[in-house]
Amino acid sequence: MITRRTMALGLAANAANRVGARAAAAPFAWPGGARAAVSLTYDDSLDSQLDHGIAQISASGFKATFFLTRENMDARLADWIAVSRLGGHEFGNHTVSHPCGLQPYTASSYARRELMPMQAYMDLHFGQNPKRVFAYPCSETDLGPGDANQKFHTFETTLKRVGLAAARTSDEDSPMTPAYARARPYWLRASATTYDVDDPGLAMRYVEGAMARGLWAILVFHDIVPTRTQAGETSMASHKLVLDWLKVKDVWCAPMGAVLDHIRAAPA
Ligand SMILES: [Zn+2]
Repeated sequence: MITRRTMALGLAANAANRVGARAAAAPFAWPGGARAAVSLTYDDSLDSQLDHGIAQISASGFKATFFLTRENMDARLADWIAVSRLGGHEFGNHTVSHPCGLQPYTASSYARRELMPMQAYMDLHFGQNPKRVFAYPCSETDLGPGDANQKFHTFETTLKRVGLAAARTSDEDSPMTPAYARARPYWLRASATTYDVDDPGLAMRYVEGAMARGLWAILVFHDIVPTRTQAGETSMASHKLVLDWLKVKDVWCAPMGAVLDHIRAAPA
């Protein structure tokens, strides 16, 4: 899906992808010779992730990235800390209250009310992390005045200022070349493949597209439920099918920060 924002930033993205295309003759070296990297990300610190998702993720052996929103998790904080003690999972900042419309905010008020308190909360309960990643609530990247590019620049600058190392959208865009991710770490692309339709085949096709070209695919999940009743929910059956399918595919499945570290350590 081409959105207004991705169109506005298309030139830079295309330039980065052309760098990746030139490198296609020598495929990027993912760990273990894998054909693609896959990051499983879970947004909004929802109870259903604790109640249904974690057990399936643990059974798969994969390590995931959880984007936490404080107002959704305070009541279950002890359970989230228990997840962190499983080891290997990554915890990202997804703000205090998950605002979608950012018109009421300036860069400094957004940092003061949504970013910095969440950083402090995560430092306290999950340990300090200078490489902590961020996910834009509602994939909203417009912050402050100006056109879409200026607003995104303001957002990116604000994230850097509070110590966030990278950021993920969820605009249903295609998987990324390593060159793109290196060039645009605050516009990492992802797809919530099961948000509108609870079809595990959509996630599989998204990852197959990455495998065909040696790319990085980030999948976004929200609620993981026994039976889907509304948009945004992924049934446990679909979730398990995706995880089981990934297990037998030649992909490197790792949290976002680990994939970024690998990309940044590789020769440009
Ligand atoms: Zn969210």
